[in-house]
Amino acid sequence: MLKYAKIRDRDIANGPGVRVSIFFQGCLHQCQGCFNPETWNPKMGFELTKEKIDKILCLCGKEYINGISLLGGDPFYIFDKRNNNMKTERDLFLYLITTFKKRYPEKSIWIWTGYSIEDCLTGCGFINNDDLYSVLNNSDVLIDGHFIEKYKIPNLKYRGSTNQRIIDLPATLSTYKSNKDHNINILYSIKIIDINS
Ligand code: SF4
Repeated sequence: MLKYAKIRDRDIANGPGVRVSIFFQGCLHQCQGCFNPETWNPKMGFELTKEKIDKILCLCGKEYINGISLLGGDPFYIFDKRNNNMKTERDLFLYLITTFKKRYPEKSIWIWTGYSIEDCLTGCGFINNDDLYSVLNNSDVLIDGHFIEKYKIPNLKYRGSTNQRIIDLPATLSTYKSNKDHNINILYSIKIIDINS
């Protein structure tokens, strides 16, 4: 069952402009000092059904909405290889991302995850790298990495600690080469967004 902890229909804190934010339920990272430990347990929270996703997608069509933000917990919890049995949940998640992008190409998708982009692209620790790649390929910004308490700076924009990167996904993925026949995945560079510019 795909689970969420809460949904905000007019969020101005997580990404640029006014956004719809979904806080997913379930996280395996156990970062020390986590600001949201109640989202770790995948048995808690509420079911995110296809009907609910369709309502969220309609809400995203409102003129004042600039995009959708996916946070946690960890939205990529369902792709972790320890959750091998969550294919239905992964399909639903992919449906949310691809339908949003098709319907609102001018609006942005921002995703926060405790995994690194390198791990997402090499498939390290993940169950289905093709689906995860499709998620990244249809999204605009990834804020990646664990929250690390010693790198915490209060009021850091869009991040909890300075080790986390705000990654421009289209620019970064344009430098990514994958050759399944030869089992080679290379990411030549990561383009970081300067949020002050
Ligand atoms: S990834 Fe986020 S929700 Fe998960 S433990 Fe780390 S800070 Fe908490």
